[in-house]
Amino acid sequence: MTAEYKGKLVDTHCHLDFPDFDSDREDVILRARENSIAFILNIGSSLENSFRCVALAKQYEMVYASVGCHPHEADRITPQGMSQLKELVKNEKVIAVGETGLDYFKNYSRPENQEPLFRAQLEIAREHDLPVVVHCRQAQKDVMRIMHEYMPLKAVIHCFSGDEDFLRECLESGFYISYTCNITYKKAEDLRRLVGITPLNRLMLETDAPFLSPEGFRGRRNEPFQIKLLAAEVSRLKKTNEEEIAEVTTANAVAFFKLT
Ligand SMILES: [Zn+2]
Repeated sequence: MTAEYKGKLVDTHCHLDFPDFDSDREDVILRARENSIAFILNIGSSLENSFRCVALAKQYEMVYASVGCHPHEADRITPQGMSQLKELVKNEKVIAVGETGLDYFKNYSRPENQEPLFRAQLEIAREHDLPVVVHCRQAQKDVMRIMHEYMPLKAVIHCFSGDEDFLRECLESGFYISYTCNITYKKAEDLRRLVGITPLNRLMLETDAPFLSPEGFRGRRNEPFQIKLLAAEVSRLKKTNEEEIAEVTTANAVAFFKLT
């Protein structure tokens, strides 16, 4: 790994384009840099948000963009919107497709619309040889069934919230697992156990900011520099030091998103 990333962490999933950051977005990014965050991957959640992600990535060197449509958008996205997404993905700071996937927990969009939107984005990723950022909530079986039709597929399951069987299936399929600060929550015993059995060479870190502030900060806006607290918790669970966690998770992110 290049010297510029040494000892640094990466926030592989956040939403700095959200209005929560309108009043101090620049400070948030500077604070991340001052706190040894090597880079931030800002994640598109809708067509409009994906446009903002790309604009932000163009503005700040340490910010990269993923463009995509969250399953919540499935009832809303138009064919014209999909063509715009296909154009947007060509920008040089776009390093992934997503977040995309299935969400049967909230079901804000109908499942029969979520699946084709997921498939369309897996196809875009394949066409452009980009990794996919996958959102999966209470849809493990369908997510796995669909993803297996697009193998070999470079994918990360973001904000992992599945059970041990799903974790093992993901690992066997070669997928990466990304954990958020929700592993620090008092009731997250199951999740902490899963972190313990996730091999370090498949693990990435994310804040999902503005959501999921770590324990002690709950109810407040999350932001990328808080990833330090997540790294500390992961190092405790993996019985190693924070330096190793930084080294490994950053190397994983750099290789996965092809930033070498
Ligand atoms: Zn997200």
